[in-house]
Amino acid sequence: MLNKKVVVVFSGGQDSTTCLFWALKEFDEVLAVTFDYGQRHKLELEVAKAICQELGIEHHVLDMSLLNQLAPSALTRDDIAIADNPETGLPSTFVEGRNMIFLSFAGILAKVKGAKHIVTGVCETDFSGYPDCRDMFIKSQNLTLNLSMDYEFVIHTPLMWLDKAQTWELADKLGRFDYVREKTLTCYNGIIGSGCGECPACHLRSRGLDEYMKNGGAS
Ligand code: ZN
Repeated sequence: MLNKKVVVVFSGGQDSTTCLFWALKEFDEVLAVTFDYGQRHKLELEVAKAICQELGIEHHVLDMSLLNQLAPSALTRDDIAIADNPETGLPSTFVEGRNMIFLSFAGILAKVKGAKHIVTGVCETDFSGYPDCRDMFIKSQNLTLNLSMDYEFVIHTPLMWLDKAQTWELADKLGRFDYVREKTLTCYNGIIGSGCGECPACHLRSRGLDEYMKNGGAS
């Protein structure tokens, strides 16, 4: 038990909801922050709000529409298909600089609220080539935040070295397997729970779930 106050970067998806439950176990006081950057599905914001309301968590929604103005992606534009970009090898869902911007604002919010701890659900194991999901970036950003605000932030990444099956296992260990399975939104087509079953996010989610169940999970 870290006995401290924490800000969780929260999208209402499987990963960040699992992180939210992890934070509720590890910290005394939990705040959540969700970024509105013009997601294709406003539902993502609604899901995040509903989960925080249900869990009684102080929730902040910050307007990040500038991010979409600068770096449009398939997550924000209907006219950009969800596919890999052959030039960069990155999926079209990649939003340039997103985690750097999110963690900077989460840091400012944390300091204003007197919290030293920040939790983010980024993961290097399934990182799809997103450079700002790597452990090295998080460590660098942590140092930058500390230097920029002369403050001892600690960024926690409980999912960093887990694969999707292990993330399900963590939710299960936290006693929240069914909650995460039924109430979170991961699907790019905006379908809560097990999703559309067709998009890359659904494939990743169900592959991990199948693997966890196959190995005797959630029995
Ligand atoms: Zn889907």
